[in-house]
Amino acid sequence: MSQVRTRFAPSPTGYMHIGNLRTCLYEYLIARVNKGTFVLRIEDTDQERFVEGAMDAVFNTLKMTGIGYDEGPGKEGDCGPYIQSQRRDIYKKYAEELVRRGHAYYCFCTKERLESIKGGDENLGAALNYDRHCRTISQEEVAKNLAEGKPYVIRQLMPTEGTTTFTDLVYGDITVDNKTLDDQVLLKSDGLPTYNFANVVDDHLMGITHVVRGNEYLSSTPKYNLLYQAFGWDIPVYIHCPPIMKDAHQKLSKRNGDASFLDLVNKGYLVEAILNYIALLGWSPAGNEEFFTLKELEEKFTLEGLSKSPAIFDIEKLKWMNGEYIRRMSPEEFRAAADNWLRAGLGDALADNEAVLSKVAALVQPRTVILSDIPERIGFLKELPQYDTAIYCHKKMKTDEAISLTSLKLLAPFAAGYSGEWVSGELYTALCELAAAGGLKNSQILWPLRTALSGMEVSPGGATELMEILGRAETLKRIDKGIELLEAAAAGREE
Ligand code: GLU
Repeated sequence: MSQVRTRFAPSPTGYMHIGNLRTCLYEYLIARVNKGTFVLRIEDTDQERFVEGAMDAVFNTLKMTGIGYDEGPGKEGDCGPYIQSQRRDIYKKYAEELVRRGHAYYCFCTKERLESIKGGDENLGAALNYDRHCRTISQEEVAKNLAEGKPYVIRQLMPTEGTTTFTDLVYGDITVDNKTLDDQVLLKSDGLPTYNFANVVDDHLMGITHVVRGNEYLSSTPKYNLLYQAFGWDIPVYIHCPPIMKDAHQKLSKRNGDASFLDLVNKGYLVEAILNYIALLGWSPAGNEEFFTLKELEEKFTLEGLSKSPAIFDIEKLKWMNGEYIRRMSPEEFRAAADNWLRAGLGDALADNEAVLSKVAALVQPRTVILSDIPERIGFLKELPQYDTAIYCHKKMKTDEAISLTSLKLLAPFAAGYSGEWVSGELYTALCELAAAGGLKNSQILWPLRTALSGMEVSPGGATELMEILGRAETLKRIDKGIELLEAAAAGREE
């Protein structure tokens, strides 16, 4: 088999949709698994749909995901340029060649004429948009029109009889009646090709062997095949992917959320988890393993695992996977990945301290699902929330408000006079001694303390870990606040 060459061919029309990223990933993996070449081609010939900054979104996504291309903009190979708007002469040449071969023709129909035939002409087949008016004009007239500089497009001349069959690796053989195929525009009046033409010319000239794309292109593929045949070119392997659905009825779109790669990253999902999850949207690995790094996918991806059933984008599954990825990170990796979120939660004063950042990271790593959960979970460190003293009561910890008040009154002088090292382990030992000396269970000291320090029923970290992070002064302040609240509550009950 000739060397495998695949391409990712995004149109810079906006953000990076999860479906596009999946296409990109599969193209990349097919190249890597086969020790082939992965090409990036920018399809920007539709000037009306061009969105400023969309090209950067493509480059940034590739950079963030680690999907590296071998040829493309900025990495010139033998088939450049790789930006279609820089290849206009090439398309013109091939469109004209197709006219010469009798598979395309000049069309001089005006916009007004095209408008007037829309749906109105009974000679048009139901699916056809164009009535093929210019198919029959003479060569002399064409030459005259061209000499006069009349605006024109070049259209593909579709056979009116027979059928066209193509094979898709996922969907199998697909056959269409040629008479249902529109004489589509190949070269527009601005001299630029349509996507339908440019992708065929470029896939051929760039030696592309495998084309992966969304199944919305299935219906156009017979037209591409006819173009390949007209030129006498080899047809690539087609791999159309089923749509990614939000649920049984709706496609995943940006409007109903979660369709944009960058939005997911901004919501606190890890790039590695997103990539792993979308690899599985339409591809099943051979065994039961679900966790794959990009490196592993580069070895294990198989065309046989591709499926044609629509994939449901299950955000709960992604969340679960993200949590698992977080658990598998080293403390240092997690600390780095969570940096912005930790800083946002801790506020400037605490976030200024690298030791605090690392300690808080270690505290939240075990239960974080997505990184954006972090600020809310650690906000209590920045500022003690208002709380109800009822949270001091805990049956299993054998505490109630009265015991808690007793404990905090022991803890205040303890914390003020403690002369050991202010670190969790040593504080813990000292507190156990304090409990024993006061005739209390450890939990009767630790629970009230943790509660006073967090102001929350549930918080990341135990009492002494929180002491270490908050430091002595803040610890004392919060113990005093606890005493004040518990005394006020007791006084209220007596009245
Ligand atoms: N430029 C097309 C798009 O962004 C690519 C389709 C293809 O891969 O052929 O949808």
